[in-house]
Amino acid sequence: MSIAAAMAMRTRLSALSDSPELDVSLLLCRCIDKPRSYLYSWPERELTAEQQQQFLQFLARRIAGEPIAHILGERDFWSLPLAVSPLTLIPRPDTECLVERALEMLTGHENPLILDLGTGTGAIALALASERADAEVLASDFSSEVVALAQRNRDALGLTNLQLVCSNWFSDIPRKRFNLIVSNPPYIDPDDPHLSQGDVRFEPMSALVAAEGGMADLRCIIQESPNYLVTGGELLLEHGYDQGELVRQALSERGFTQVASQLDYGGNERISWGRWQ
Ligand code: GLN
Repeated sequence: MSIAAAMAMRTRLSALSDSPELDVSLLLCRCIDKPRSYLYSWPERELTAEQQQQFLQFLARRIAGEPIAHILGERDFWSLPLAVSPLTLIPRPDTECLVERALEMLTGHENPLILDLGTGTGAIALALASERADAEVLASDFSSEVVALAQRNRDALGLTNLQLVCSNWFSDIPRKRFNLIVSNPPYIDPDDPHLSQGDVRFEPMSALVAAEGGMADLRCIIQESPNYLVTGGELLLEHGYDQGELVRQALSERGFTQVASQLDYGGNERISWGRWQ
């Protein structure tokens, strides 16, 4: 089988994936250990028998619905290659909006102390730690296996300014005052029909779903954060496309000021924040 023939098998994914060409090219690149540009420069090259067998196995897994990130065991976030596992959320491009906003909020603060709650792969914490060498980042997850995964990602990237702790939201966070608290908590309504479609079927419910129509964990974080923020510190949250108003309301009711939201790349309200005065 040639590279071009393998690429043509993207049609097998058209019913299932929004990005069949990207999916097939990522699987193929892994099998032949070459960058994506190679696929377009050398379409006539033949796969070895071993490469072809692996490609067909990967493709069968994708056709069965498995996310590309799980098949490859890896996903890039903020241009950092991160190991992923079925125990965590697969990092999403929209969450990079939260990183961008966090970096803007930290402009002018030297040596900021940052807390990332429910870090999963460590995506947000690692992006911030890599951009701000002067920052001290603490990231938590309630699962010790997930903490170990985030630690492996940190060590693979050689970042030394990130510490990890096993904690159920604030239960085991040291009593410190942070300049910025960030989180992408579970926020999907348990009755949301999207939970039975596409890649999310392979992600853990614990990382996706929250009670109270998806608001329970967001509310818990908003309630507790002021006990862990310096005066003038900020809380920055990712939330569902239709939760902006509820999150702004919860932030204002708790006493946060300068409450605002921002859209994601798809034009939906996706992040909101407030300042603790
Ligand atoms: N944005 C994700 C989705 O819609 C959910 C992420 C989350 O619950 N934190 O699939």
